[in-house]
Amino acid sequence: MDLDSCPKCAFPASPLHLHPLFTPYRVPSLLKRLYPGLVWDIPVKDKHIFLTFDDGPHPVATPWVLETLAPFQAKATFFCVGENVSRYPEIAEQLKSAGHSIGNHTYNHLKGWNVPDQEYLVNTRKAGENTSNKLFRPPYGRIRRSQAKMLQEDGFRIIMWSLLSCDYLQKLNREQSLNTLCRCSKPGSLVVFHDSARALENMQWILPRYLQEMHDRGFTFAAL
Ligand SMILES: [Zn+2]
Repeated sequence: MDLDSCPKCAFPASPLHLHPLFTPYRVPSLLKRLYPGLVWDIPVKDKHIFLTFDDGPHPVATPWVLETLAPFQAKATFFCVGENVSRYPEIAEQLKSAGHSIGNHTYNHLKGWNVPDQEYLVNTRKAGENTSNKLFRPPYGRIRRSQAKMLQEDGFRIIMWSLLSCDYLQKLNREQSLNTLCRCSKPGSLVVFHDSARALENMQWILPRYLQEMHDRGFTFAAL
C-alpha cells in the first residue's frame, strides 16, 4: 500500500494513520507528559482559537490564507521557515502588516533528532532575524529535550499544538479532519495548518469550512 509519511507525529508512517482512530489529529497525552515545558494549548477564558500555519511563506498558499482569514477578522501565527522568508520577503511583510505574527520554524526546516544541538540553535537563531517574536515550533514536532532546554534558555517559547489538521497527508480524509477539528476545538486550542505546496489542496478545503463553523459557534481567532 502506498502511504505518505506522517512527518508531524512521533510515530512512523503506517496503515494505522489512515484509520480514523489513529490519524494523529489530537496530541497523544504521553507526548504532553514527556515534554511538560512546551506549550500544548493556551489558557484563556474567552472563546479564542489560535490558528497556526507552518512552513511558509509560500507564493500561492500564504496569500490565499491571508484572503481567507480576512473576512473573519482572524489573526494567526505563521511559523515561517527562515529560508522561505529570505526568498519571499514581501509576503512576510504582508503577514506582518495584516496583523499576524511570525514565529520561528528554523532556517532550513531542520529535524531536531537528526541535528547536533549547537547546529540546531545556530540555525534557529539565524531564522530569528526574520521573525516578529521569540516563538518557536520544531519542524516535524521533533526536538530533543536538550535542544528544547537550549532554546528556552535562549528566550524562546516552544509552541506545540493541540490539534493537527493533517493537511500534509496526501490521502487525508478531509471530512474526517474537519469534523475532528470542529468537535475537539475549545477555547485556547492551538490548531496546525500548513501554508505549503504539499498541503495546499487539503488546506484549501478544510480551512474555510473550519473558520465558518467555529465563527458560527462564536469563536474568534487570535495570533500568539
Ligand atoms: Zn514544518
